[in-house]
Amino acid sequence: MFKIIVCIKQVPMVSELPWDSKTGTLKRELAQGMMDPASRRALEAALQIKEDRDDTHITVISMGPAMAREILYEAKALGADTGVLLSDRRMAGADTFLTSFILAEYIKKECPDFDLLLCGSQTSDSETAQVGPQLAGELLIPAMGYVQSIELANGMVRVQRHVDDFMEVLEMDLPGLLTIDQAAFGPRYVALEGIERAFQTDDICVVNAEDLGLDKNFNALKDSPTRIIDVYSPATRKENLVLKGAVKKVVGQLFDDYGKIISGAMGKDLKTHEHEGAK
Ligand SMILES: Cc1cc2nc3c(=O)[nH]c(=O)nc-3n(C[C@H](O)[C@H](O)[C@H](O)COP(=O)(O)OP(=O)(O)OC[C@H]3O[C@@H](n4cnc5c(N)ncnc54)[C@H](O)[C@@H]3O)c2cc1C
Repeated sequence: MFKIIVCIKQVPMVSELPWDSKTGTLKRELAQGMMDPASRRALEAALQIKEDRDDTHITVISMGPAMAREILYEAKALGADTGVLLSDRRMAGADTFLTSFILAEYIKKECPDFDLLLCGSQTSDSETAQVGPQLAGELLIPAMGYVQSIELANGMVRVQRHVDDFMEVLEMDLPGLLTIDQAAFGPRYVALEGIERAFQTDDICVVNAEDLGLDKNFNALKDSPTRIIDVYSPATRKENLVLKGAVKKVVGQLFDDYGKIISGAMGKDLKTHEHEGAK
């Protein structure tokens, strides 16, 4: 059996993001939830492997409030075999460090013999891109990020990923973790028969802090080592400036005063070009 675990997070619909400024967390209970688009691509990668290999078993795990159960049913409707919800008030408010820790505690305890662990590259609501790499750290397994294609052979995985202007081909021993690039593995639609299958049995496994054997004083909100201090929309400042004078003088002034901004926008180092021109 080839065992794949996919970590999926429920995120609020992008159009509704109520924010609790006192606690620094999203009031996700007020927003409609959906499967994080990056997690959905990780699941799609697993489903494509399952299409190629009949002996594949996919476990989807989500840590979140009770309503996150919805995305586990969705994953099962798409073709996942087992759904697990890690949920407890004492896990709420976890930063990425404790999220990775809790996911790893479950995996070590209940499915230590997995072959491949898949995550999205970064979620649509918090976008830290930290959970995948940290989870690999917790489990002491190798990891590769922003993967765009996957080939499995002889206990190894061969992947391709886009880096700057290059495609990289890399190999990694299994078990290992991959985070899936946002541009790869376009998700499929949920088939009607899948929805029927997913709801035939109410078999999402719900695991709380006690089941996981977490310390009785464990409290993610309090124990998380990183905290959101503030979230705000940056104020934009617009000002118009008219440069007057001879063209050469005006262009010189423009580059002296705004060279850095212009080169950043053009993606070029203007100084380098100046030297190249002088040669
Ligand atoms: C009761 C409860 C309430 C919670 N409330 C919130 C909340 O209000 N806001 C919030 O952002 N988070 C909440 N969480 C979840 C947790 O705090 C976040 O998942 C975590 O901080 C992830 O950060 P990120 O989105 O930047 O992950 P990233 O590092 O950007 O995520 C990358 C990938 O890691 C995986 N991943 C990330 N988070 C999870 C997860 N929770 N479960 C499974 N896979 C995951 C996915 O594959 C994802 O695509 C809650 C958890 C619980 C138990």
